[in-house]
Amino acid sequence: MTANVINGKALVASIREEIKRDVQEMANAGKQPGLAVVLVGDDSASAVYVRNKAKACEEVGIYSEVHRLPAETTETELLTLIGQLNNDERIHGILVQLPLPKHIQEDIVIDSISIHKDVDCFHPANVGNLMIGKPGVLPCTPSGVIEILHRLQVPLAGKHAVVVGRSNIVGKPMALLLLQEHATVTICHSRTERLAEITRQADILVAAVGRAKMIKKEHVKEGAVVIDVGMNRDENGKLCGDVDFDDVLETAGYITPVPGCVGPMTITMLLKNTVAAAERAGSHVSPE
Ligand code: NDP
Repeated sequence: MTANVINGKALVASIREEIKRDVQEMANAGKQPGLAVVLVGDDSASAVYVRNKAKACEEVGIYSEVHRLPAETTETELLTLIGQLNNDERIHGILVQLPLPKHIQEDIVIDSISIHKDVDCFHPANVGNLMIGKPGVLPCTPSGVIEILHRLQVPLAGKHAVVVGRSNIVGKPMALLLLQEHATVTICHSRTERLAEITRQADILVAAVGRAKMIKKEHVKEGAVVIDVGMNRDENGKLCGDVDFDDVLETAGYITPVPGCVGPMTITMLLKNTVAAAERAGSHVSPE
């Protein structure tokens, strides 16, 4: 049996259409959601992500501004900019592209973003709300994965979900969201022993490791739903996931392609979070 390759492009396109309609409705009421993206330094991958985010905003009618700061920017200068954006009524979401240069402490910067404008759900207060299941902003990549599973009507309650990776950005919040969906969740990491034995029990397997093609067919149960969060370069410099797509294709029931599924879905959730933040912020006048 060959896996169903999840059509990420179609899923993303339909959700962005829905967001566009929401933005249009807000525009009719004289409001426009706004996102500020802050990029410090000249990391080329970060520059590409930032461009994609700004382009996606434009597509759905969200106002966006990109603040490109030199690598030598001081922490104080960055905090001053964030303070201004926190008070800017046109801006409902603030995203500071990580990683930051080494001389800037990421946690201090994240803590300085207004919790109401933290559309990434990185602020400890928002992470705390997620932990205790209080409604609020959800982290983009994990909520994008849940969105994919919902749209495909994958049953989650009572199923065994295995998440490989325990980062604060992907692995841990992913596990929490799956738990909220009543899955039985196992988290694996670099110290996990007999990884394949555990991942082979998964009805839903989420790979968020950052190691090109490390998940092979021996890691996957027949018919499992395999979600590949990884974004890596293979030996030829080609973009690839954490899952060895060709090797797993015959075993999995569903599989996400890389690129073209979790990546664009993550940006789509960012758009959704920005619109939701604007809705919560009440009435704002469109920028000139
Ligand atoms: P991190 O490097 O922060 O975390 C990687 C996790 O994988 C760690 O928990 C680590 O374990 C675990 N790990 C490393 N090696 C192994 C191994 N051999 N076996 C099992 N677990 C292992 O990465 P991120 O979570 O930030 O990102 C993961 C991947 O997802 C990357 O490829 C990244 O580019 C991609 N990504 C994609 C996004 C998208 O939009 N598509 C968004 C964000 C990330 P330990 O904790 O023990 O070190």
